[in-house]
Amino acid sequence: MNLVFLGAPGVGKGTQADRLVAQYGMRKISTGDLLREAVRNGTELGQQAKAYMDRGQLVPDAVVIGLVKETLAKTGDGSGFILDGFPRTVPQAQALEHVLEEQGIRLHGVINFRLSREEIVRRLSGRRSCPNCQATYHVQFSPSRQGEQCDRCGATLVQRSDDRQDAIETRLKVYEEQTAPLINFYEKKQILSHLESEGSVDAVYERLTKVLEACSAA
Ligand code: AMP
Repeated sequence: MNLVFLGAPGVGKGTQADRLVAQYGMRKISTGDLLREAVRNGTELGQQAKAYMDRGQLVPDAVVIGLVKETLAKTGDGSGFILDGFPRTVPQAQALEHVLEEQGIRLHGVINFRLSREEIVRRLSGRRSCPNCQATYHVQFSPSRQGEQCDRCGATLVQRSDDRQDAIETRLKVYEEQTAPLINFYEKKQILSHLESEGSVDAVYERLTKVLEACSAA
């Protein structure tokens, strides 16, 4: 299946996508991950994107659309993909439609993750990640057994620069203004399913697999 995961930052899209990747061998295409990799590698694209990302603002459409187009062109092995964090604006969604049509790829479902603002802030502000192997933790819900160190590789964990309070506020505002209109966009195309994202990772995954069964039967 080819899917889009829609929802505010911190609702658990990436975590659930990782589960599907592990279970079904689907490919996760996360624009946030791709951009962070470009920043780490110091590429021209990374240098362009960094200032926007640190402030919690969106990277210009043309940059992310180009990135996704390139990645989708390389994907085509039929194992299915999950677009995580793309599209985030109406122009991005229109560009995606165009690219999928051009490459003869069908989109099977758009899953809209829903979570209260209070819980989103709790999840984002407690998130920590490993700068070396990219493993992610949460200080309260899934802490590293070694405290400040990564369980997998031992590196010292860091907080993402855009998981600080002021950037979180900006990201949520940007979501409301620019991304939330996509709910209506995909509802009209009758391809949208809602997913309640509160509770444990396992509980959400169970709900997600049920929603996907319904999508694949449609
Ligand atoms: P994420 O990890 O999905 O929360 O993305 C982290 C940051 O990367 C966002 O706050 C944006 O600055 C940037 N970004 C990721 N995906 C997109 C996108 N589709 N459009 C614009 N900017 C994006």
